Amino acid sequence: AKKAVLGPLVGAVDQGTSSTRFLVFNSKTAELLSHHQVEIKQEFPREGWVEQDPKEILQSVYECIEKTCEKLGQLNIDISNIKAIGVSNQRETTVVWDKLTGEPLYNALVWLDLRTQSTVENLSKRIPGNNNFVKSKTGLPLSTYFSAVKLRWLLDNVRKVQKAVEENRALFGTIDSWLIWSLTGGVNGGVHCTDVTNASRTMLFNIHSLEWDKELCEFFEIPMEILPNVRSSSEIYGLMKAGALEGVPISGCLGDQSAALVGQMCFQDGQAKNTYGTGCFLLCNTGHKCVFSEHGLLTTVAYKLGRDKPVYYALEGSVAIAGAVIRWLRDNLGIIKSSEEIEKLAKEVGTSYGCYFVPAFSGLYAPYWEPSARGIICGLTQFTNKCHIAFAALEAVCFQTREILDAMNRDCGIPLSHLQVDGGMTSNKILMQLQADILYIPVVKPSMPETTALGAAMAAGAAEGVGVWSLEPEDLSAVTMERFEPQINAEESEIRYSTWKKAVMKSIGWVT
Ligand code: ADP
Repeated sequence: AKKAVLGPLVGAVDQGTSSTRFLVFNSKTAELLSHHQVEIKQEFPREGWVEQDPKEILQSVYECIEKTCEKLGQLNIDISNIKAIGVSNQRETTVVWDKLTGEPLYNALVWLDLRTQSTVENLSKRIPGNNNFVKSKTGLPLSTYFSAVKLRWLLDNVRKVQKAVEENRALFGTIDSWLIWSLTGGVNGGVHCTDVTNASRTMLFNIHSLEWDKELCEFFEIPMEILPNVRSSSEIYGLMKAGALEGVPISGCLGDQSAALVGQMCFQDGQAKNTYGTGCFLLCNTGHKCVFSEHGLLTTVAYKLGRDKPVYYALEGSVAIAGAVIRWLRDNLGIIKSSEEIEKLAKEVGTSYGCYFVPAFSGLYAPYWEPSARGIICGLTQFTNKCHIAFAALEAVCFQTREILDAMNRDCGIPLSHLQVDGGMTSNKILMQLQADILYIPVVKPSMPETTALGAAMAAGAAEGVGVWSLEPEDLSAVTMERFEPQINAEESEIRYSTWKKAVMKSIGWVT
């Protein structure tokens, strides 16, 4: 059969906490032509520990690429039209591997992992100078969340890692580095790099000078030679070394939340998006200035789309547990068989009937930064059933977003008029309506929810030497918007929100 002729295509790897995807877009319209997705295992070897297998992650990427290419073949689309590949990834998750064997030296420590709580306590006692030492350089609070302390834990506790460092065989990276190094050849000349957005989540990166910070590396006692080279988010890093797309340049790299900001075209100062995945992350573009929050938000690198292009910053509200609470109801309680089923349960009752669920499984992130918090379900009566708990779980995601939006509005001064959303959970219509009701502003969702992958594809397609994507709005002609307007009155919404805050206070200080 004759293969259909199309404009240049761009592929994107979206390596998330829950799953890996590969997606192929038409660069002229942003139309999603084909994709494949594989769920990723999460291991919980001890309470508070969260690990993933870096090799399983890499295999899942190859599998998604191969399957997507097969599907394109069935659609009569010639894969030689794929001109570039972008990578977007779960951020902060930490891998150390051996550059001579290509073998990871330990499982990946996932961003949600809490094992570094005592590492953080010890470090915070010896912060040099004022307490602002880490925050003023990195935009981040000293927390279990970021890579530096995870890497510190690996260096302190894993003999294989120590030995590899001594023998100059160790490489450190977040998932983007691990994937790009492996995909560009691994032990046979793989490129060891990361981009400014991923680097800005390690707590070792100076977000003003855009370089690894010597003082921070000394403070965390991290050998600088194991760190990847930091590049912009849009340039050719290397070529695919194997598989159906061998020879195609990898030319975009963005942490998933930055990728979603780009995919939602939030290029102007004050534009924001909220992504509902495993966690929930609201990012607001602050242009070329680093804005420091007074209300528990992070300052982070938003993107730098080219070696000679300027850097953009963002204020970020991070919520650790959003979709993960739905996965917990599925895997740990078994009250649903699939994440989608939560909507049916919630719909049956349409209210939590006074039940509140604070899913502080990994402590609380923004705006509280309370590692001592643990999950609670409260307000239970004899009348409460699993449908109310399901509803309360969805409501929890919306309340947590409300808290970060409130903080964002206070830090930015100009309240958002609507909220642009994306991510796996946004296919849930009850959640979207509840969110509009609880924020009391409209919630706007693109018809094509894969904005994270789209952002990575845009960065890859726009790179110097590729040049198939112009980053103008007309390139997104295939994307339409769906709006959810607030339907309950503000007073009712305020009462629910203040009861939520009471529940949050009960979750804090649970562990000491
Ligand atoms: P990530 O990028 O963190 O891997 P995704 O954006 O792929 O996450 O979203 C997956 C998360 O969304 C999972 O935690 C899953 O439980 C949740 N989820 C998926 N579909 C639904 C749904 N219909 N309702 C509620 N939650 C959902």
